[in-house]
Amino acid sequence: MKPAAAGPSVAPGLAACLTDLPGVGPAIASRLGKLGIQRPGDLLFLLPQRYEDRTRLTPMRRLRFGQRAQVEGEIVSSEVLLRRRRSLLVTIMDDSGSLTLRFFHFGGSQQAALSPGRRLRCYGEARPGPAGLEMVHPEYRVLPPSEEVPLALSLTPVYPVVEGLAQGRLRKLVDTVLDAALRAVPDWLPQPQLRKLSLPSLASALETIHRPPPDADIAALLAGVHPAQRRLALEELLAHHLSLRRLRELGRREMAPVLDGDGPLIERFVAGLGFALTGDQQRALSDIVADIGRPTPMLRLLQGDVGCGKTVVAAIAALHAVAAGRQAAVMAPTELLAEQHRENFRRWLEPLGIGVAWLSGALRGRARSSTLAAIGEGEAKVVVGTHALFQEGVEYHDLALVVVDEQHRFGVHQRLKLLEKAGRTGLRAHQLVMTATPIPRTLAMTMYADLDVSVIRELPPGRQPVKTVAIPEERRSEIVERVREACRAGSQAYWVCPLIEDSEHLPSQAAESTAEMLSTALPGIRTGLIHGRMPTDERDRTMKAFAAGDIRLLVATTVIEVGVDVPAASLMIIENAERLGLSQLHQLRGRVGRGASASTCVLIYRAPLSHLARERLDVLRRTGDGFIVAQRDLELRGPGEVLGTRQTGLTQLRVADLLRDADLLPAVQRLAGELLQGPGSQVDDLIERWVGAQARYGEV
Ligand code: ADP
Ligand code: MG
Repeated sequence: MKPAAAGPSVAPGLAACLTDLPGVGPAIASRLGKLGIQRPGDLLFLLPQRYEDRTRLTPMRRLRFGQRAQVEGEIVSSEVLLRRRRSLLVTIMDDSGSLTLRFFHFGGSQQAALSPGRRLRCYGEARPGPAGLEMVHPEYRVLPPSEEVPLALSLTPVYPVVEGLAQGRLRKLVDTVLDAALRAVPDWLPQPQLRKLSLPSLASALETIHRPPPDADIAALLAGVHPAQRRLALEELLAHHLSLRRLRELGRREMAPVLDGDGPLIERFVAGLGFALTGDQQRALSDIVADIGRPTPMLRLLQGDVGCGKTVVAAIAALHAVAAGRQAAVMAPTELLAEQHRENFRRWLEPLGIGVAWLSGALRGRARSSTLAAIGEGEAKVVVGTHALFQEGVEYHDLALVVVDEQHRFGVHQRLKLLEKAGRTGLRAHQLVMTATPIPRTLAMTMYADLDVSVIRELPPGRQPVKTVAIPEERRSEIVERVREACRAGSQAYWVCPLIEDSEHLPSQAAESTAEMLSTALPGIRTGLIHGRMPTDERDRTMKAFAAGDIRLLVATTVIEVGVDVPAASLMIIENAERLGLSQLHQLRGRVGRGASASTCVLIYRAPLSHLARERLDVLRRTGDGFIVAQRDLELRGPGEVLGTRQTGLTQLRVADLLRDADLLPAVQRLAGELLQGPGSQVDDLIERWVGAQARYGEV
C-alpha cells in the first residue's frame, strides 16, 4: 500500500495543520507523515486497504484456514502454557464447534477477564494450530452476560497502519475529517461524464468507501468493483494518464542529437545477418529512424512477442548512433539477459570494427575503471550491461541512444533517470524501450501515454508454433517419460515450479523437491536447479551450463520467465498452471520454440478445474499469439485478481487495478481530452492529488 499523496487544497475550509486535529500532537503528526499525510484533508484519500465483515458471525465449524472471520462463543478453558514461549491459550465454543485463541503478550487483568464462562466475540484470521484451527491475537470483546450486543451494520474499513498509530485511532481521525471536510472536497471531474458512467460524485464515493452504509453491496465492495471504488479508480487512472502526458510535453521541449545516420554501415550490417528483416521489423525500424532523425528525444516502446526479433532492430538503432559518431547504451534487467545481448552485439558488430563494452555490477577493479574511462572518453561506442550502466560514477561522453530491454522490469521513473544521464552535452538521449509483454491497445494508450508505440506481430519465418497441452497432475509420470524421450532425442527441457502464494512451502522448496524427484526418476539425465534464493553467480553458472547443453533438464522457479534464449530446449513443463496469469504462462512458453525443432509446452494442473480456469488454459492451447492471449487475459480475469505491476512496468496504483478496471480506460482518455482543453489547474491538481511526489520527481 502506497501512502496517500499530499495534495493541495484537498479540502479547503479544513484546518491546515495536522496538529489542529483533536488529539494529534507532533508525535502522531510525524507518524501520519509516514503514511504520506501532511494535512488533515489528505486523510480523505487514505483509502482502506480492505474491509472486515463484522456484520455476521461465522460458526466455528465452518472456519477455513486463512479466513478472516468473526466468531462468538463461551470460554471453556483458559490456561497459561510455559513451553518455548509463554502463551495464554483460551478455548471458546459455539453450537458448531470450538476454536483456540492464542496470546503471546498478555497482562494479568487480561488473563483474569478471559476466564471460563465468559462470552467472547472475536475477529481474526484462522490458522492451523497444533490442535485444529486457532486465532493468534484476535481482536476481541467480552460480552455482557445477558444483554444482546448488536453486530456491525456495515463493513469495517481497515487502513494501512504504521508503528505507533493503531487502527482504531486512524479510523477516528478519518471520521473527524470526513465530518468536517467531506462536502468541501473539490470534485474536478465533469458531472455529465460521471452520470453517463453511472458513477457517483467524489464526496459520495469517499463517504461510501470510508463508511459503507448498511445497505451497500458488500460483495462489490470486497471485490473492489463498487461504483464508489470505480469512481476513485477512474480518477486515479486519469491522474496517471495526465501526468504521463505532461511528461511527454516536457520531453518535447528537450533537444536531442539528430541521428540521420549513414547508409553503408547499416547496409553492411544487414547484409551480414544471414536473414532478411520481417516486414514488421522494417516498419518498426522506420518509425525509429524517423524519430531519431529529429532533434527531439525519441520515446518509443517497441512491443513484440518473445522471439519476434526486437534485438536486431535495437542493434540497427544503435548503429545509427555509432554512425553519427556518438554512443549507444543497451540495458537489460538481469545479468544473464545482459550477457546474451553482449554476445549478440559482439557477434554482429565486431566484424564491422565496432567494439562492444560491458558494464555490470559484478565488474570490479581495473576492468571496471578502464571500462568507465572508455565510456567517459567516448571510445566505447556501444555499451551493454545491467542497470549498472546508469549508476553514480558512470559518465558518458555523448550518449545519443538508450535501449532498455524488457522494460516491465523497470519503472517509469527509472526511465526518467536515464534521461538525466545524457545531460553533459545539454542534449537528451533518444530512448527505445522494448517489451515482450503484449499490452492491449487501450491500456498502452492510457498508461504509456508518454511513449510512442511500434508493434512487431510477425515472427521470423520458419518458426514452428509451440504445441500446448494441459494435463492433470495425476499423470505426472507420463510427463516424466516425455522428458526422458526428449532428452534422449538430444533435446532439452525446462520444468517450472512457480511461486504459489498461499502454499506453506517456499517456491524454492517446491523447485528443490521437484528437482530431487526428477533426478531420481531420470538417472543419466543431467538435471540443474535454479531459483531466486540462490546466489546470482551460482544461478548464472547453472544457466550457462544449460545453454551449453551440459545440463539437459532445468528445474526452475519463474526466474527464467524473461528473455532467456536456449534454442535447443524444446519442452516446457509448467506446474500449477491453473494458478498463473495467462500472460505469465505465455512468457514462460516463449522459452521454447526458438530453435528448428517442434516444441511442446505441457501445462500441469490440479483437478478439478473451475470453469474459468479451464477457459484460461484453453486460450493457451488454442493460440500462440501474445496479443490475443493478453486480450483474453483482460477479459477473463475475475474481479479481485491483480495484474502484478511487474508485468506492466506501471507505477503502483492505490485503488485502480488495471485489469479489473480496464473497461474504464476509454473514459479515461475522453476525460483527459476534455480536461486538457480546460484551464490547466485542474490537471495539475489531479496529478498532485494522486501522483504527487512521483510526478514532481519526473520534473527534476
Ligand atoms: P526477442 O524479440 O524476443 O528479443 P530476439 O531478438 O532474441 O527476440 O530474436 C530471436 C531470434 O530470432 C534470434 O536468434 C534472432 O537472431 C532471430 N531473428 C531475428 N529476426 C529474424 C529474422 N527476420 N529472420 C530470422 N531470424 C531472425
Ligand atoms: Mg529479447
